[in-house]
Amino acid sequence: MRCDVLTLFPGMISSVLDESIIKRAIDKGLLEVRVINIRDFTFDKHHTADDSPYGGGAGMVLKAEPILRAVAHIGEGDKDLRIILLSPQGKRYSQEIAYDLSQEKRRILFICGHYEGIDERVRIYLKPEEISIGDYVLTGGELAALVIIDSTVRLIEGVLGDISSAEEESFNRLLDYPHYTRPSELMGMKVPDVLLSGNHEEIRLWRKRQKLVNTLRKRPDLLSTVELSEEEKDLLGEIREEESI
Ligand code: SAM
Repeated sequence: MRCDVLTLFPGMISSVLDESIIKRAIDKGLLEVRVINIRDFTFDKHHTADDSPYGGGAGMVLKAEPILRAVAHIGEGDKDLRIILLSPQGKRYSQEIAYDLSQEKRRILFICGHYEGIDERVRIYLKPEEISIGDYVLTGGELAALVIIDSTVRLIEGVLGDISSAEEESFNRLLDYPHYTRPSELMGMKVPDVLLSGNHEEIRLWRKRQKLVNTLRKRPDLLSTVELSEEEKDLLGEIREEESI
């Protein structure tokens, strides 16, 4: 995956790129991220990237020209560029969008707003995709861009040791099952016997059941959005009977 992040605060992005799985993906050549400072595309001597809003009111607005210049530099109108504007007004981000982005062959450009937001003409001119990471307002788009990069990169083949760990995870149809590691007993709490049994078929069935239990208890709304296998339907019937739901 190749992306550019256009921001007024490049340090916020770079510090995260240098850690953990994202760093490993970069080192393996599976992810390339260029961090581009909007200020580098300002031409006045004070490198002004923001200004007060027309019509008055609180806060500052990111100016359109430096952003449009930066996009032109990166490759505006380029068919090889997918432009994403981070915005609380955008389409709600989801695991489905993460999968889509993880398969993207084009370079992805994330534009991060800040302060009161970006001069509307950036949106009018570029007609970008707008993505929100949730119904709340962040200080800037940097954390949102990182959330998207982080959740997307782990879906690229070769980034996680075993891609099946991503396939079992929450929002790939159902919620994940509970995980345990050593010790087998902690403050009187025991790891379920089946996980110590070595019986692969029983473990598979237990995990499938626990995925359904978790989903039914925590996010029952998801059950109406997925097609269940016959085995899952039977298990769900049993669980509903036991839990009287
Ligand atoms: N005045 C804007 C509004 O109410 O729609 C909010 C501006 S916000 C303080 C500054 C920047 O943070 C936005 O331009 C956007 O890039 C980013 N941002 C804030 N909340 C976000 C969210 N939920 N998802 C994605 N980006 C967000």
